[in-house]
Amino acid sequence: MRVEVTSISRDLRYELRDLIDTIKKILRENTVKCFEIDRLSEEDLKIIKSLELLGCKYIYTCEKDFPERLSLEELGFYEDISPHPYKVFRDVEELLHRNWPTPLVRLRSLSDERRIVWAKLEYYNPFSMSIKDRIGWYMFKKFIEKNPTPHNKTLYEATSTNTGMALAAMANLYNFSATLFLPQTIQRASDTLLEVMGARVERRPETITIEMIDEVDQKAKSLGGVHLNQFFNDANFEVHLRYTAKELDLQIRSGMLRLRGIIAGIGTSGHFSALTLYFKSRYGEHIKTYAVQPAVGETIPGIRRIETGMKWIHMISYDSVIDVRLGEALREAVNIARREGILVGLSSGAVVAAYKRLREENRLEEGDYVLIFPDHGFKYVEQFNKYLSREIV
Ligand code: PLP
Repeated sequence: MRVEVTSISRDLRYELRDLIDTIKKILRENTVKCFEIDRLSEEDLKIIKSLELLGCKYIYTCEKDFPERLSLEELGFYEDISPHPYKVFRDVEELLHRNWPTPLVRLRSLSDERRIVWAKLEYYNPFSMSIKDRIGWYMFKKFIEKNPTPHNKTLYEATSTNTGMALAAMANLYNFSATLFLPQTIQRASDTLLEVMGARVERRPETITIEMIDEVDQKAKSLGGVHLNQFFNDANFEVHLRYTAKELDLQIRSGMLRLRGIIAGIGTSGHFSALTLYFKSRYGEHIKTYAVQPAVGETIPGIRRIETGMKWIHMISYDSVIDVRLGEALREAVNIARREGILVGLSSGAVVAAYKRLREENRLEEGDYVLIFPDHGFKYVEQFNKYLSREIV
């Protein structure tokens, strides 16, 4: 018999940390056993919860004619990723998740005979033109599932812009309002963009978003609003495991890439950690993953240093962290614009700088490398201006 995973797992409560080993095992083995529905052990329940988190649609209960083990494909593992063939969407929420996968494109200017470099273009997401649409959508969706008729419909969030834009979009679609807190280091254009999207913006004296968390939490609590909290909300990690990683997996298979490494920036560490967990578990430790952070004393919008405190990166094992200066990030974003013809954000530039460093240091074996480009360059006119006038080098 085929049973919907959610009908069993909906009320199961597990910490993500408790599920990570089970998730690793499921991804490594790519199969799951049939369950005896009236005799589920604690271990079975953990597997079922992990399957739900991975986006599997069904489990099978033991019957004579079923095999003992079923592949993830048979459990509906890839069913979440179903692009609309002609790109006709019922609403903009569908435009977000039924337009996935975001494109994976080979970068001619970075590829050579030994290594082929691919960029995953997250600016193809519609709200913030960034990877943060994924978490804004998913955190909000999960909140609404649990609280279908919330009392106070105001979202409070600390953001460096992108999560704010994504949440402002969700607020608009669901008749909420959004109050967003930005650190002083973020470009001024963000206030206008967020206000155009209908959000209320408060600038704070802090330099990075995470420093504002307690204050935002207090504010949401005292005013009875909703703080989804991208830094600690496991929906952030889950959405990348369930969609971003799986998409990339399908893209890699369809393009027959020989994946050797993934390079990504870290802010909350959500996408880097989920991709690392997924690809190392599914394909082995020979897939290297490199996290990119700003060098000491530097500010690169969207990413920050690991020691400023992150949740998920400490639950996984990855290969190394690479420091990049703002000037290098700008230089590489400009190089990408001039050589590839696409305008990307500064954290994408930082990822390119990290790739070049690894290549120069001879740390990259032959094969295919995926760079995650989190957003578009339009928000960073102020920084590009300073770079072009040599105020930043
Ligand atoms: N790059 C940009 C432009 C971002 O906005 C963010 C997050 O805010 C990141 C990178 C880092 O992503 P994550 O929070 O998944 O670590």
